Amino acid sequence: MSGAVGRVSGDPQPGDTVSVSSADGEPLGHAAYSPASSIRARMWSFDPDPVIDESHMAERIGAAVARRASLVRDGDAVRLVFAEADDLPGLVVDRYGDTVVMQCNTVGADRWRDTFADALVDLPGVSCVVERSDSDSRSREGLDDRSGVVRGGLPERVWAKEGDHRFVVDVERGHKTGFYIDQREGRAWIASHCAGRRVLNVFGYTGAFSVVAAANGAASITTIDSSGPALAVARLNGEANGVDVGELVEADAFTELRRLRDRRAQFDVVMLDPPKLAASASQVDKATRAYKDINLLGAKLLAPGGLLVTWSCSGAVTADLFRKVVAGAAADAKRDLRIVARLGQPADHPVPLSFPEAEYLKGLVLRAD
Ligand code: SAH
Repeated sequence: MSGAVGRVSGDPQPGDTVSVSSADGEPLGHAAYSPASSIRARMWSFDPDPVIDESHMAERIGAAVARRASLVRDGDAVRLVFAEADDLPGLVVDRYGDTVVMQCNTVGADRWRDTFADALVDLPGVSCVVERSDSDSRSREGLDDRSGVVRGGLPERVWAKEGDHRFVVDVERGHKTGFYIDQREGRAWIASHCAGRRVLNVFGYTGAFSVVAAANGAASITTIDSSGPALAVARLNGEANGVDVGELVEADAFTELRRLRDRRAQFDVVMLDPPKLAASASQVDKATRAYKDINLLGAKLLAPGGLLVTWSCSGAVTADLFRKVVAGAAADAKRDLRIVARLGQPADHPVPLSFPEAEYLKGLVLRAD
């Protein structure tokens, strides 16, 4: 927080590398200066020794990539760099085969974008680097959006391959970097629990859960999303995997869930994977009301013995708070729900013990009795 900075010497400009010292003058390390953000300085290094230059950044990227090598074996869709979790605050990089998508979310990361792009295109097997620096966090840092191919040429179609499946990734216009790599554990879980079941996939985006459910013997699948283009890709994903993704419903989820409730529809698996409803601590109250609303509606749609698979990707909503909100929703829905599994972010989205804020994705699987 800005209150954490006692004094700024000299006249550093946004994105400049500054030395950080403790109140009694002890050198602590180096940081990117960000006067527009409430986080004034983002640490490039907690050690005063290294020189923060191109080779430092390239080494950090190399270390992040090496860290993944033994952790992610299933497929070629991998988060290569996860900001603070890889000592590269503000930088997110996702890889889909030979295409890499980078997001510079802070003024500090933005300063080094060419260095990052050069290091990424030099990785073995990478032929294209796309920039998707269009996240909400950029405006908080006083930055404009910037997107497009920055190195190499974009293949005609980019795929995320995972297990036996492949998913179309719209790296230029899709959400975030184009695909929700972070739901890998969720997809594995659905694969082994949907056979013979009626599945409702709410906030389905490009239908990754629906493809997995279809390929693993779901009795029926209904996918709801407010984005027509995302659902069109869901249809393509069904075709690419040789499965029928079932019914695709373009609608507001809150309205559609009420409609299904009024029709007394029932499902054996209800998945709720809404977008980040709380972008910051100030939005937590409003977000918890929305989480409660959809979980209440989702719980009402469960057939006896059905499973509610529900997530929050809001870092500002803690796992404990999320569990309480779901408990409140179940009570109001008059459903007796038990947690039978917990799902989270996979190994390529690590959480440093010194940076618990990196933990954002929380999933609960609840069985209705
Ligand atoms: N489950 C998806 C990711 C979901 S991302 C996957 O695994 O790939 C959140 C999705 O919610 C986006 O596709 C977005 O279009 C959709 N969305 C946002 N607000 C919505 C609303 N009010 N009603 C329905 N869908 C909504």
